Amino acid sequence: MNERKIGATELREILRFVSEVVAREESRLNALDAAIGDGDHGITVRLGFQAVRKAVESSPSNADISAIVGDAGRAFMEATGGAIGIILGRMLICGQKALQDHETLGADELRRWLDAMESTITEIGGAKPGDKTILDAVHAARVSVSAFILQGDNVVEALLAASQAADRAARDTADMLCKVGRASRLGERALGHPDPGAVTFSIIMNSFYRWLIEHPRECGAFNTLTSQP
Ligand SMILES: [Mg+2]
Repeated sequence: MNERKIGATELREILRFVSEVVAREESRLNALDAAIGDGDHGITVRLGFQAVRKAVESSPSNADISAIVGDAGRAFMEATGGAIGIILGRMLICGQKALQDHETLGADELRRWLDAMESTITEIGGAKPGDKTILDAVHAARVSVSAFILQGDNVVEALLAASQAADRAARDTADMLCKVGRASRLGERALGHPDPGAVTFSIIMNSFYRWLIEHPRECGAFNTLTSQP
């Protein structure tokens, strides 16, 4: 049996790990943003996840996965500014409702959360897939997890699918023109540069996956996956 799911304690650890990874990626994310924006994306993401880390460390010990992501998202929004601060904050917050009454985060809960993220982003910015935003990576992840669920429910494999799809989608944004937000004024100058938000989302999905691979025994046996995206 291979039905690994993420419990509340693991989710806290994973969010702490995401905060470490994005801090290491800060300058790369700033550089990506500098090519098509004002160069502060890495700072925003690092500050936001620092706040997430503090929130998960201080939330009540009996907090469930739904409460944890809600607290994390509110902390992210309080600590950051700009459109991406609101978007990433609300992508976490929307998980509170999507995961309500679910004790663990399995493949189906991941799909629910990605679904909520996609609607939330669309609602905030009106972006569509192909507009060169974070939505491109979220949409690709959601589609790949929805397809994955037809054949399995292991959250590690679902996250591998999500991570690979988000990574591909983030790379593909380099060939797109910015259609929404300030960067839409850049026109063809945006070509060749991936969207920093989409790259950040692929880093987050990859961090979830990597943490699980690196902590195989905390939630039962797991040994079928050896490759990383
Ligand atoms: Mg910026």
